This record gives sequence, structure tokens and C-alpha cells, in this order.
Amino acid sequence: MKTLFIPNGHTPDLRGSPELRIIQLPRPSSLAVVPSAFPFVKPRLQVREGDRVSLGSPLFEDKRRPELRFLSPGGGVIETITFGPRRIVTAIVIRLDEKEEREFFPPLEDKDLETLTREELVEHLVKGGLWPLFRSLPFRAIADTKELPDTLYVRMDSHQPFSPMPEAYLQGHLEAFRFGIRVLKKLAGQLVAYTCAEQHSFVLNECQGMVNHTVFGRYPAQDPGVVHYHLRKKGNTGKGWFIAGEDILLIAHLLETGTYPGERTYAMGGTGLAAPCHVRTRFGAPISHLLGACDPLKGTFRNIAGGLFTGRNAGQEGFMGMYETGLTRIPEGKEKEYFGFLRPGLTKNTVSRTFLSALFNGPSSVDCNTHGEERACINCGTCTRLCPVEMLPQFTMKALHADAIEEALAHGLLDCVQCGLCAYACPSKIDLSGIFRSAREKLYQEQQKGA
Ligand code: SF4
Ligand code: SF4
Repeated sequence: MKTLFIPNGHTPDLRGSPELRIIQLPRPSSLAVVPSAFPFVKPRLQVREGDRVSLGSPLFEDKRRPELRFLSPGGGVIETITFGPRRIVTAIVIRLDEKEEREFFPPLEDKDLETLTREELVEHLVKGGLWPLFRSLPFRAIADTKELPDTLYVRMDSHQPFSPMPEAYLQGHLEAFRFGIRVLKKLAGQLVAYTCAEQHSFVLNECQGMVNHTVFGRYPAQDPGVVHYHLRKKGNTGKGWFIAGEDILLIAHLLETGTYPGERTYAMGGTGLAAPCHVRTRFGAPISHLLGACDPLKGTFRNIAGGLFTGRNAGQEGFMGMYETGLTRIPEGKEKEYFGFLRPGLTKNTVSRTFLSALFNGPSSVDCNTHGEERACINCGTCTRLCPVEMLPQFTMKALHADAIEEALAHGLLDCVQCGLCAYACPSKIDLSGIFRSAREKLYQEQQKGA
């Protein structure tokens, strides 16, 4: 077992953490696939409104990489296909049949793993629609089926507030996880499966022989890009792919049963829920369906799908995307506080130690209020102090504003893991990680054109 220490980062202690309790939800009446949740995918639809689909039948393919298949998470009728600006497909909504039809794929047994070639395994995963779970660093695009990575990272747990805990998602599924790990060992030169040691002795005890690294550090120490960056500093170079620990269960399900997996465990957190916990329900379930299990409070709240710092505003009527395993509900924070400027902020979360809560231990609260508009950078250095990959975010941002892309790259633009911490902590409210995301996306598109 190797140990890695990540010096920077920040884990806020927030109210509203989900309990380990898992609620099994009844089947929702409809599901959706959100194509925009897949990075760098240009969907070419293979269905129309009114078409009948089965669990695991194709919905769309990627125009640039038609070998990538995106399958239906349920059996029923395509109710609506919604489009955003420039005809981008925003959701494919499926109204589920009482009795859902399903596609069947060739199942695999333990003994088949010995004789199966890597190419055959890749083909199983591509046809079964789960290849998009593998993504490559540094751009986090869906992995290239023809590539052989040097390292495959498996992130077991996360310090991001309100993320699924392995104690919850592995409950009753340890054998499937073991099988999934054996599958992954065929895909890469080395497998780095790691856990955040401080939080989860459960993983260390239950996954002996499967998890081979521990990572010490605050959020986002567990991010595969951060682990890759720090291992690279120790001389471990080469191409890296990653997958989330909970997604290994989906792969095991597909290969063992020969059917597309329909369900996953979601973490539900935030002060907008009276009873934060874990829920188990279908892929692509409606946000309202998940919220119903955790007594959502009335008022003006934001539902964030996919993580407090890295997720998206999913609205009240949206659906969960494929990579999103957590739903956070926090206040919009638009209400004016009576004599707010005189209040010491004893319960407010603060990185810059603006509020008195910095002096006390114990969980604090967070909302969506940025307390003011974006202002000029004051060179306070907070972003640099927190950045887990030792970038200089303020100089990278200034280089990008001056169109000096080479300088931005020299400051580490490609190492950025999009953790959102710099933007969260910046006292000038500058959306640094948003700026870096756009620049990295542009770079990726340019690389693809030149390839
Ligand atoms: S945290 Fe914001 S204000 Fe401070 S140096 Fe970074 S960009 Fe500038
Ligand atoms: S620059 Fe990137 S990696 Fe560094 S804190 Fe900001 S978002 Fe995270």
C-alpha cells in the first residue's frame, strides 16, 4: 500500500451531510439522458419522439467517434427531445412502460476473464454502452478505445461535500466490486485504486488487496488529476485514465448479467433537505423524484447535480446526468439579512476567515450568494495557496486574458483539475475555474482538429 500526501486544498465542514442510510426509491414514471453531460460529445440522434426503446437500446452516437454508443436507461416511449441554443440536444426523455423491455449482451463469467483478450473486453464495454465511464487525463474526455493507458485511476471516495460514501454504495456489492477490479486490471498497465485514508477505514478494511494507494489531504486530494500530478512528480509518467469507484459496480453488473445497469446510489445533501441520506434509484431519474425521499424544505433553494464545487444547477425539473452521483440542495441566499453587515457570521462558511465562524470548530452553512459582483484581482494569493496542483491561478487567468496561451500552459493550465476551489475562495468573486474550463475546452478542440 503506497501513501501519497497532497499539501494544498480545503475541506469545508458543512451542515447537511448525508447519513449512511440508503432509501430504495420506487421506479420513476420517466427517465432522461442528458447528452450535454458527456464531455466533447456531439450527439447524432438515433431515435425520434414517439419511438419505442428498451433498456440498453441506442439513443445517440458521437458524430466524431461513432463507435461510442449511448444507451437508453429504461424501456418505454421517447416522450420528448429538448434542444438548447444552436440545436444542442439537452435531454431525451423516456416515459417508462409498466413492463420494460431490455436488450441482452453476452455475459461474462469469472473464468472467461482468464482467456478474454483486452480487445474483446473493450468491445464488450463499448457495445454495452459503459465505455464513457472511462475518461482520460488531462482533458477528461471519454477515453480512446484504441489507446493503452499507463495508469488507470480508481477514485473510491471524495472530500467534496455531500459525495457518495463507499460504505453506502458498496453495501451488499463487495463481490461485484471485486469482479469489477479484476476486469479493470486487464485494461491498463497499472491500476491505482485509492482511498482518502482519514475518512474511510471501511475501504481499507473491506477492500484489502483491491485498493493499493491511500491519499492524505483535503479536497480535492482524491481527484484523479491531482493524484496523477503528484505521482508524476515522483517519476510515474505516462498516460492516465480514470473511473469512479461506484461506476465499477455498473461495469460488473453489465458483464455479469448481460444487461445494461439501470440503478445507482446517489448521495443527497445540503441544508435544503430535512433528512439528507443516500438513495438508490434509476439512472437519469428526475431531480424531483430524488428530492422526494429527503424531505426538501420549502423556499428558494438551488439543486446542484454532481457536487457542490463542480456540479451544475439542475433546476427543479431537471434529470440526473450519467456522471452525477450526488444531489446538493442549498439556499439561493438572496434574502437580505436584517443588519447583516453587523452580524458576526457565526454559522457562515469562510475560507478567507472573513466571518467569526473561522474561530470555532463545527459545521457551518453555505449558500449560493456570492456577496457582491466580480471585482479586479487583489493578488491576495488565496487561490495559489489552495490549488492542489501548484498552479498560479491568478497569473494563469491574466495570461489567458492577454491571449498568452503559452504562458498559461507554462503556469500549469493543463494540470488544472477543475475542482472549483479557487473560484469558491476568491474574495474578488472571479470565476477562475470557469475561465480555465473554457480555455481547456478550446485547446482540446484545437488539438482534435490538428489530429
Ligand atoms: S484569490 Fe482571487 S483575488 Fe486572490 S489572487 Fe487569486 S484571483 Fe486574485
Ligand atoms: S486552478 Fe484548477 S486545480 Fe487549481 S484550485 Fe483552481 S480549479 Fe482547482
